[in-house]
Amino acid sequence: MRGKQGRKKKAYRRTPSGKTKIYFKKRKHSSCASCALCSKKLAGVSNERNLSKSEKRPSAIFGGVLCNKCRKTVIEEAIKVKQGIKRLEDCEVRLRGYIEQSLKLLE
Ligand SMILES: [Zn+2]
Repeated sequence: MRGKQGRKKKAYRRTPSGKTKIYFKKRKHSSCASCALCSKKLAGVSNERNLSKSEKRPSAIFGGVLCNKCRKTVIEEAIKVKQGIKRLEDCEVRLRGYIEQSLKLLE
């Protein structure tokens, strides 16, 4: 399996004593932040240091966590739950945590 949960890559390296040892390559830091739900690349998220908070990620709800599409879905679901159109138990399991968070923000 590849991606965030992927295993470290095995590599062989000769030591000064002549033996070959197995070591695990350090995983590279992914250069792009991705959406927590659909793993799409996130726009407006910077990797650079010494920036102010608003320069690092969008100031919208779940900015730097969810993409615009997923954010929209989550907030729409949260509003439905708040208005009593839908129950939290009927929402998608992977969305529930985010819905609960946005319900707190909507109060
Ligand atoms: Zn997304």
